[in-house]
Amino acid sequence: MRYAIIGAGLAGLTAAYEIRTLDPQATIDVFEATDRIGGKLRTVAFQDGPTDMGAEAFLAYRKDAVDFFTELGLGERIASPSGLTSLIYAQGKLHPMPLATMMGVPAESAALGDLISEDTKARIDAEPTADPIEWHVGGDVSLGKLVTERYGREVTDRLVSALLGGVYSCWADDLGIRATIPQLAESLDALAEAGEPVTLSAAVRRLLAARPKPTGKAVFGAFQGGYAELYETLAEKSGADIHIDAFVASLRSYLKDYDRVLVCTPAPTAAVLLKDVSPQAAAAAKRVDLASSIVVGMKFDSSESLPENSGVLVAADTENVRAKAFTFSSRKWPHLGARGGALVRVSFGRYGDSSMLQVDEDTLVDTALDDLFTVTGFDGRAAGLSEIYVQPWYGGLPRYDEEHGDVVTQVRAAIAEVPNVEVAGAWLDGVGVPHVIAGARAAARRLCAPET
Ligand SMILES: Cc1cc2nc3c(=O)[nH]c(=O)nc-3n(C[C@H](O)[C@H](O)[C@H](O)COP(=O)(O)OP(=O)(O)OC[C@H]3O[C@@H](n4cnc5c(N)ncnc54)[C@H](O)[C@@H]3O)c2cc1C
Repeated sequence: MRYAIIGAGLAGLTAAYEIRTLDPQATIDVFEATDRIGGKLRTVAFQDGPTDMGAEAFLAYRKDAVDFFTELGLGERIASPSGLTSLIYAQGKLHPMPLATMMGVPAESAALGDLISEDTKARIDAEPTADPIEWHVGGDVSLGKLVTERYGREVTDRLVSALLGGVYSCWADDLGIRATIPQLAESLDALAEAGEPVTLSAAVRRLLAARPKPTGKAVFGAFQGGYAELYETLAEKSGADIHIDAFVASLRSYLKDYDRVLVCTPAPTAAVLLKDVSPQAAAAAKRVDLASSIVVGMKFDSSESLPENSGVLVAADTENVRAKAFTFSSRKWPHLGARGGALVRVSFGRYGDSSMLQVDEDTLVDTALDDLFTVTGFDGRAAGLSEIYVQPWYGGLPRYDEEHGDVVTQVRAAIAEVPNVEVAGAWLDGVGVPHVIAGARAAARRLCAPET
């Protein structure tokens, strides 16, 4: 059987590996538009060792992903974080990350310290008795809009946008609740179905009460040698022929030359390619917008005065800082800390604001250093900046807005009608590494055994 896979990011390479395990005799060709494999996973050679400039972690409680890494022979390469906490920068100072929230959405004001004003705290605590939300079971609405409506703008900006901004590169207003925090949408569904008043605080409280007790196990994992360990292993073990600098503009010839075709590109490209097989799937994929961001990786000789935390998220209502997040990689990951000095990643850019991708590199690095100093007091220039790597991510992440669930349903239904063609990737399966892996493996299984 001959398989063509378009895109050598995580989805494409995972699918190639999975196809090889299911169909050992398969001919597998992977076509990649750029001059490298890995897509949004990119490990760069810093002087002291490999360093991730795209994704840097995965959810370690996703057993399916950890089992997969073990199957690939990478189980021993998984690194655990230090367990240091993160901070939020808001109103000109650093605050501890409140723990009793669902991705920043609280049930009550008690755990929020002075991150928000007394007025907003009173509003949160009065929310249970406010008019209930008109919630449509199974539907979706803007996360930021609902939180602002119920609790006020400060909660959206200082908690929810700060937390989700890191994961999705978007303001909370631009994200759907069900699309990004499905448990919260389901909790709102459950209240409505039980005929109880639907309030945000009640929905969050139910979730927090059901949260399993901390096991002491790390929530995140990473690879000691960076994500290159994963994408290079997948490429090698798949035994696929990987063609780089091979931009695919249409599926037509691939449909003739191959028995099965798998599209693993970001949504806009998938929309163009799918036109050849399913105008409906193409039209739905076209509705997915992308958010751009830029990561500045910096190595300093000294780590003195860098906070003993894993990083800082910046509140969306911050005016004196352009960065949206700082990851103190050498504090967060002991295997990186062991290299000495300090390794810091500064991230800029969100959906609708790619202005920092337009500035020249010197200005960008200056801004990163200034912002780091403003937020933490760590003077990167005095600490000896020995290495810099700037990684722009144009359209790096798909936007999971309130229409996203509908898009996914439509694409899946339309593609199910097309024999021998499948689609996978972060825009369809979820942006996290375990989600992308699970989605790509499932797509590969459907391609290899269409009758089951
Ligand atoms: C800055 C950043 C940080 C992140 N951090 C994390 C993290 O810490 N943890 C986590 O779990 N996730 C993280 N993510 C998300 C995660 O990295 C991605 O969701 C995942 O890697 C996407 O994989 P993919 O294969 O779906 O897409 P991609 O990686 O985008 O791969 C698609 C591939 O298709 C190729 N392609 C596109 N068009 C064509 C064409 N016409 N012909 C041929 N090839 C084409 C592209 O060049 C690319 O190589 C992060 C993402 C970014 C951008």
